[in-house]
Amino acid sequence: MPPSASGRARSKWGADVEINAAVLYAKREAMKVEPLDLAPPGAGEVLIRMGAAGVCHSDYHVISGQAGHEFPVVLGHEGAGEVIAAGAGVEKVKVGDHVVLSWIPYCGTCFFCKAGQSHLCQTHKGPLWDGTMLDGTCRLHNTDGPVRHLSMLACWASHAVVPEISCVPIPPDVPFEVAALLGCAVTTGVGAVVNRAKVKAGSTVAVVGAGGVGLSIIMGAKMVGAARIVAVDAAAHTEQMARNLGATDFIDANEDVHAQLMALTDDIGADYVFEAVGKPALQRTCLELTRPGGQLTFVGMAGNEATIELPTTGITRQEKTVTGSIFGSAHTDRDFRLYAEHFACGRLPVERLIGRRYSLEQINTAIDDMLAGKPGRGVILFDEDGAP
Ligand SMILES: [Zn+2]
Ligand SMILES: [Zn+2]
Repeated sequence: MPPSASGRARSKWGADVEINAAVLYAKREAMKVEPLDLAPPGAGEVLIRMGAAGVCHSDYHVISGQAGHEFPVVLGHEGAGEVIAAGAGVEKVKVGDHVVLSWIPYCGTCFFCKAGQSHLCQTHKGPLWDGTMLDGTCRLHNTDGPVRHLSMLACWASHAVVPEISCVPIPPDVPFEVAALLGCAVTTGVGAVVNRAKVKAGSTVAVVGAGGVGLSIIMGAKMVGAARIVAVDAAAHTEQMARNLGATDFIDANEDVHAQLMALTDDIGADYVFEAVGKPALQRTCLELTRPGGQLTFVGMAGNEATIELPTTGITRQEKTVTGSIFGSAHTDRDFRLYAEHFACGRLPVERLIGRRYSLEQINTAIDDMLAGKPGRGVILFDEDGAP
């Protein structure tokens, strides 16, 4: 990595390297891929050379303004790379480690962490929503001042400084493009199946929405031995990818989904239904797709103000369970490694989830492709030497 060549106010910010990053300056604008100054890792932080980073709808929620994030910001919260420098007191990882980045760092000592629900840890919520590091400041700067970090990761950049608690080391033989997807889509989808719904072998599963997370739910359902896995999506060209990951049936969401699912299930409905889009109208429909005694899990993220009305007798008389899952209800230190092992053994074919690969310079195209419903997850790949 070269020293800064920008000639900008380097001493003012105390940064010592120049990196290449995709910067979002305002909502609904295209990102600019440009050099930024990156300060060295502080205490408890590490410098990562990015290997790969996925493109997730949650990034788009910042671009669209729905997430209410401050600008300018570097997005990217689904990434993997190599630790190339460590700040003071770092113990969890060391230089040379390959790591998956987690967008929910947890404290390990609060009520939720002690209860085994580290994915619900609220301790770092302040800086996470503010787009700063744990100490409330930014490591990224341009000539005008600080640039925010999405989820303390900001991994749509050649390099990132992140808290060590955001890193989970994984075996170096897992390709970065696979490791990156463990950081959001795979963990969110597979974890919803394994940790939250606890899908039983032999059951019938319906997955509404076959984007990166929905496809991961399908992959997880196949892994735990679901007998019938019905994918529902409005984009007919996602059918092949859904089937490659384990779907046994595909319903075009433009048709009568309820009628088709009932025809497939002897008019009973599915044992487990997952809503992976985050649309209130679909969430309600999903309750109708769930069989009496079955379970509906909301995984897709609706806007913060969204509400739904549900027929309560479906929940009393028919004993349907409605629940939600955030980040696959994951214990990231356990699950990232576990899913990496499942990948290595062929139980989770994560590589089949990748729709298209891009360079960082193509980031805006990657967003457009995702919004156009192109099948599979888009992945940004970084040069081996990490040079900006
Ligand atoms: Zn995500
Ligand atoms: Zn905690």
